[in-house]
Amino acid sequence: MSTAPTPAEDLLFPPPPEFTAQANVGAREYERAAADPEAFWAEQARRLQWDEPFTTVFDGSTLPTAQWFTGGRLNVAVNCVDRHVAAGRGDKVALHWEGEPGDSRTITYAQLKDEVCRLANALEELGVGHGDRVVLYLPVLPETIVTTMACARIGAVVSLVFGGFSAEALRFRVEDTGAKLLVCTDGQFRRGTAVAVKAAADEAVAGLEHVEHVLVLRRTGERTPDVPWTAGRDVWWHELVERQSTEHVAPSFDAENPLFIIYTSGTTGKPKGLVHTSGGYLTHTSWSHWAVFDVKDDDVYWCQADLAWVTAHSYEMYGPLSNGVTQVIYEGSPLTPHPGRHFEVIEKYGVTIYYTAPTLVRTFMKHGPELPARFDLSSLRLLGSVGEAINPEAWTWLHREVGGGRCPIVDTWWQSETGAAVVAPLPGVTPLKPGSGTVPLPGLAATVVDEAGAECAPGQTGVLVITRPWPGMARTVWRDHARFVKSYWEPYAAQGWYLAGDAATKDADGYIWIGGRIDDVLNVSGHRLSSIELESALVSHPRVAEAAVVGAPDETTGQRIVAFVITRGGAPADDPGDSALADLLRAHVAQQIGPVARPRDVVVVPDLPKTRSGKIMRRLMADMTAGRGGGDVTSLQDETALAAVETAWAAYTASR
Ligand code: ATP
Ligand code: MG
Repeated sequence: MSTAPTPAEDLLFPPPPEFTAQANVGAREYERAAADPEAFWAEQARRLQWDEPFTTVFDGSTLPTAQWFTGGRLNVAVNCVDRHVAAGRGDKVALHWEGEPGDSRTITYAQLKDEVCRLANALEELGVGHGDRVVLYLPVLPETIVTTMACARIGAVVSLVFGGFSAEALRFRVEDTGAKLLVCTDGQFRRGTAVAVKAAADEAVAGLEHVEHVLVLRRTGERTPDVPWTAGRDVWWHELVERQSTEHVAPSFDAENPLFIIYTSGTTGKPKGLVHTSGGYLTHTSWSHWAVFDVKDDDVYWCQADLAWVTAHSYEMYGPLSNGVTQVIYEGSPLTPHPGRHFEVIEKYGVTIYYTAPTLVRTFMKHGPELPARFDLSSLRLLGSVGEAINPEAWTWLHREVGGGRCPIVDTWWQSETGAAVVAPLPGVTPLKPGSGTVPLPGLAATVVDEAGAECAPGQTGVLVITRPWPGMARTVWRDHARFVKSYWEPYAAQGWYLAGDAATKDADGYIWIGGRIDDVLNVSGHRLSSIELESALVSHPRVAEAAVVGAPDETTGQRIVAFVITRGGAPADDPGDSALADLLRAHVAQQIGPVARPRDVVVVPDLPKTRSGKIMRRLMADMTAGRGGGDVTSLQDETALAAVETAWAAYTASR
């Protein structure tokens, strides 16, 4: 390349005027919220249906466990389902469900209400009530949403576990929650094959006295015969649920009634079970979904996350349902039966808003722009990204090849802990910069500070903190309040700030750039470098499809940069230490960021270890380069990816 590329922070995509003209939220929202955040949130809370109005907006006397909308009573399921039927919108489609093998179902809000009521009655018949925990080990099915809503309806605390998790990972969550009920299927479809899962569910609950029943939904049927059965404990869904009444009187619960427990993805260690409550969580989730995704009555919205991730809780269940939106949900792998499956689904349902993840965009990129070009994607009007910082290269590809250059991309930074989006654009207002979540949403206050709590200068790497309590914030870590206080609140106890655990910088326009986890920041000869920035530089090279950067211990520089790269075209590397490629990439990174950022080691790998939610597990690769072992691997998507990286690393180091 002869001329230096424009740095991502200088690329600016102002909202298209046509988009701004119809947007739900205008520019004044920032000022209005800043002038009186509590009044702003009270106004958003009133978008919901309360059985008893709240008397206090915010009570900080019990911080860090904040209380929002005290005195108020509501039923979350009524807000998400019944309310729309009562308003005469029962015939509106709530869910277009697409199964992996190609089966599909369409469910209206009225039908959803009947199903939720049936299941609420069924749960009560099983002895499940207010405060009891229910664990769901289910794929993306309408019943998964029905069960989640039924739990909310009766005040049971739900915890969804990814259906692809092992028995061991499931057992940890069942045990930790002390669940009374586990809901699972006979089997699941995984990349085109029917896989039996009931045996894994049995293993997960074996000997756990608190589990009274296992409710089993038939999904794979004949294809996974001989379902192991424990009489008295196990119950077939179709035998219990289908005979229930569609009438159920919903009680109302306190605004601070626990709604669900969500386990973090385990990128940094043992997953934490965050507890979210009702009034504040639903207020933040519902409003931000409406404002950030600009949802309208005629939208067809698709969040492609698995229902067990926090993304789906807020933006595939509670958020969109509370806004009465029509959604697509898809059961299977994005690459089954072909890599264009998502685009096919977008075309089939005329999806207008598509919320995805950087890992998937990079996967699509490997197939080239011909892949999306084969489908009619003209229905799309807005795109979203979550889970990791999106590399500017992936952002521009998504914008151009999928969004046809016309769709704003809302890059939403948030966490299991925050409940809903914190740093994200308003698509009709905020000019976008590829790779930045832009600025804190109205009503939210976040910034970048150094260890002592001083605001960082533009470009200086620090940590992201949230400086004012917000309604969607988690209230505790389930059965480990000390961990909640210690992980998030102790570091800035003096200021009362929440430490997010992510490194970040702000640019001169106040835009926030996430640089990776605090632990993933590299220190090379005293220079603090962000793993994400380094990876984005590598991914911007035409030969690189994906990259993971970690710091390895080094006697002279403190740390040295080790880059693991997957080359484009996906050909398996027979030479992990391809020195010609390494030289090219070193020069490229030096030109993009500076000579100090040049990776010392470049190792070509066939795959990268990721969490089930598709995030790169840098921690395990850092352990490997430092000669440490024994990190928690229960969140790994695929252990063979780690093994392949280990093999490549061994071959690489042996050849040095
Ligand atoms: P654990 O806390 O167990 O390590 P996790 O942090 O991956 O797991 P989540 O709560 O699902 O679990 O993910 C939140 C994290 O994901 C954020 O802290 C951030 O690092 C990353 N993240 C999410 N969205 C974005 C985004 N839009 N831009 C940058 N990073 C993001
Ligand atoms: Mg985290």
